[in-house]
Amino acid sequence: MRIDLHTHSRASDGTQSPAEVMRAAADAGLDVVALTDHDTSQGWAEAAEAAAEVGIDLVPGIEISTVYEGRGVHLLAYLPDPADPELLTALGRVLDGRNSRVPAILQRLREAGVHLTVDDVRRVASGTPATGRPHVADALVALGVVADRAEAFERFLNPGRPGYASRHAESLIEMIPRVVAAGGVPVIAHPWGRSARRVLTESAFADLRDLGLAGIEVDHEDHDPATRSALRGIAANLGFVVTGSSDYHGTGKVDHDLGCNTTAPEELARIRELAHLARAGR
Ligand code: AMP
Ligand code: ZN
Ligand code: FE
Ligand code: FE
Repeated sequence: MRIDLHTHSRASDGTQSPAEVMRAAADAGLDVVALTDHDTSQGWAEAAEAAAEVGIDLVPGIEISTVYEGRGVHLLAYLPDPADPELLTALGRVLDGRNSRVPAILQRLREAGVHLTVDDVRRVASGTPATGRPHVADALVALGVVADRAEAFERFLNPGRPGYASRHAESLIEMIPRVVAAGGVPVIAHPWGRSARRVLTESAFADLRDLGLAGIEVDHEDHDPATRSALRGIAANLGFVVTGSSDYHGTGKVDHDLGCNTTAPEELARIRELAHLARAGR
């Protein structure tokens, strides 16, 4: 049983349609795959249809942009009700923030001598309500300014580079109970992969667990072996579900092939059970 609980399609910043991601997952020998586009459930319906056709099990999810103690944290929400009004309102704020950031990025790029229009970005971001830096990167590739997304981030889009602009994210401590109230299961994505490492201490994780946090993504390419083993220890102490995933983005991100990290069947069973309980508690 091969289970990959974190992938992206063109409903956010992956490079394949949701159906193509499902077919690629089947080709990669996966039995279960979660589609977890950034801040939207838009890809779920197409993915569900394709998953049924190719005979794999789809776990619908959303990777939500949140902030904790001033640091960006990605919160995976598995199996929430996509029509839950409070969840939709919160996601709407994030999507609005994504949209208003694009002109800010373009303005900064102009000041750095790189001229892109909103239409240039819109053209490569068709099909997503969650426009992001990867789409600006794709527009830079289309214009021949850079060779690929990685170069675009290094030269222009990472924090501290000339085209960086921040955007709105929702409060993590508010989003965790909101996901549970929507019948979902909250799991922190790549908790120690980026700048959030220094604020996501074991005692912070304990506080977040008390708010309803169910698990942490331990096996992720952004975590080295020492990081994984430290996080596994914390998960054991706190009773967290432990997941492993590719964070696949199609050709948009190298070294994130489908199934490069996987989740144990008993951990997925716990997620399903928690979703059942969350739904019963609504
Ligand atoms: P945003 O949410 O718009 O701020 O963009 C963040 C997204 O950019 C995340 O999904 C990352 O996977 C992606 N990303 C960050 N750095 C890189 C990189 N060097 N190459 C490709 N994608 C990246
Ligand atoms: Zn992404
Ligand atoms: Fe992420
Ligand atoms: Fe992701």
